[in-house]
Amino acid sequence: MTPVIALVGRPNVGKSTLFNRLTRSRDALVADFPGLTRDRKYGNGMLGDKAYTVIDTGGISGDEEGIDAAMAEQSLAAIDEADIVLFMVDARAGLQVADEAIANHLRVNQKKTWLVVNKTDGLEEHSAMADFWALGLGDPRPIAAAHGRNVTSLIEEVLSPF
Ligand code: GDP
Ligand code: MG
Repeated sequence: MTPVIALVGRPNVGKSTLFNRLTRSRDALVADFPGLTRDRKYGNGMLGDKAYTVIDTGGISGDEEGIDAAMAEQSLAAIDEADIVLFMVDARAGLQVADEAIANHLRVNQKKTWLVVNKTDGLEEHSAMADFWALGLGDPRPIAAAHGRNVTSLIEEVLSPF
């Protein structure tokens, strides 16, 4: 089975930018998933000889009160369908209340979750990561989806068990 990577996080953190980068290869096609809805976008990519599927989601509301409101339904569905969850946060916005609500859900989820800190271009990586350790999801991984910074090495690592 091709591993499925779900991109989740608040609106505007850079999920679609990363999705586009990860599915830019000539093999990028919309996967034929049963029950596909317009709220989730599927794409395929290759890294070396490894194929993967990526799910982009519209995002999770920023004005949540509790996890039910915080997590849009399609994000929960994407997490269900995924083998790997990339939880994206925004280094420029810093840690937000909505990030904490999402993290609370992901911490109790069984899916392998990576904390990905986007928009680190022009920032010093070490200090840009400092706030995000508090989410309790392990080592925050700095990337810049728009520029490709650290993206290939992250995906290599994420796919290594598959
Ligand atoms: P989404 O709502 O999570 O899908 O976020 P988008 O992919 O639509 O990106 C939101 C905004 O952040 C856009 O203006 C992107 O150009 C910008 N953005 C995405 N990735 C980066 C990045 O690595 N660095 C910077 N500086 N901006 C980024
Ligand atoms: Mg988007």
